[in-house]
Amino acid sequence: MDSPEVTFTLAYLVFAVCFVFTPNEFHAAGLTVQNLLSGWLGSEDAAFVPFHLRRTAATLLCHSLLPLGYYVGMCLAASEKRFHSPAWRLFLLLAVTLPSVACILIYYWSRGRWARHPLARTLALYALPQSGWQAVASSINTEFRRIDKFATGAPGARVIVTDVWVMKVTTYRVHVAQQQDVHLTVTESRQHELSPDSNLPVQLLTIRVASANPAVQAFDIRLNSTEYGELCEKLRAPIRRAAHVVIHQSLGDLFLETFASLVEVNPAYSVPSSQELEACIGCMQTRASVKLVKTCQEAAAGECQQCYCRPMWCLTCMGKWFASRQDPLRPDTWLASRVPCPTCRARFCILDVCTVR
Ligand SMILES: [Zn+2]
Ligand SMILES: [Zn+2]
Ligand SMILES: [Zn+2]
Repeated sequence: MDSPEVTFTLAYLVFAVCFVFTPNEFHAAGLTVQNLLSGWLGSEDAAFVPFHLRRTAATLLCHSLLPLGYYVGMCLAASEKRFHSPAWRLFLLLAVTLPSVACILIYYWSRGRWARHPLARTLALYALPQSGWQAVASSINTEFRRIDKFATGAPGARVIVTDVWVMKVTTYRVHVAQQQDVHLTVTESRQHELSPDSNLPVQLLTIRVASANPAVQAFDIRLNSTEYGELCEKLRAPIRRAAHVVIHQSLGDLFLETFASLVEVNPAYSVPSSQELEACIGCMQTRASVKLVKTCQEAAAGECQQCYCRPMWCLTCMGKWFASRQDPLRPDTWLASRVPCPTCRARFCILDVCTVR
């Protein structure tokens, strides 16, 4: 294999993937379709719907040109090679077909002042008989400019909720549904563990937005569980929740789950048969279920100390106590930190929390 070809192929592949999926570095460098074509696209704030009509079309066209760019680049990078093999001809055909199809599609969309664009068609479903989709578009434009809208999400999957609309902006599409006729259901929650290398424990919620109008396509929005409360405030109807989904709205809630899963793998502590477990003195609801035993290091080593208290707390209360002694702004330090025993003040770490048997 010739090395310039391989080098170019790898470099182009990385560029193409980054250009399509735009990681943060590409956003910071301004290497996105909307940044490169900002002059033609106009401003999202000034005119939300026209901006996205043009942006989706431009993105589709730019991305469809990537294979052709590769072909041209390859011809320049390895000019002494001849590109007459059937595989290369097939590739060239594909590279030319893709942008051609994109152009035809965009031309079709743009006819009649973009009336055939999928976004315009969705808006037309909400239009009054006497006015067209443009009236709906201008009401969305106005609402998008308001500062009290709810907006979140990565650039490739933004979620925007205004007083009237629920919208999701993706690379090639803009999903729109009117608040008054949608049902929102939390269908999934995924927890990302709090670990020393990730700064924040996060729970990601997937919410299905389904319109009562069958012509409006249902779509999923994703957001952080800590933003859930803010979303609920912006919505007029309650969000339903699938039976198996548990939502942790605060950092403390998220932490408790991690705390419990870590304590589970610590060695258990067997209580002497003469000793009876009392109710947890924190909540008085359940029986005490944890004992602090220094197991992280040798008895004399390290900062942790041996606690001689009998089991007095349940796992949840101990977790809450542990979380309450942490710096809320530095969740990355939580797991590694030491806190005093709530009763005797002996310092302990998570490794020293043992469930009683
Ligand atoms: Zn308790
Ligand atoms: Zn103690
Ligand atoms: Zn310890």
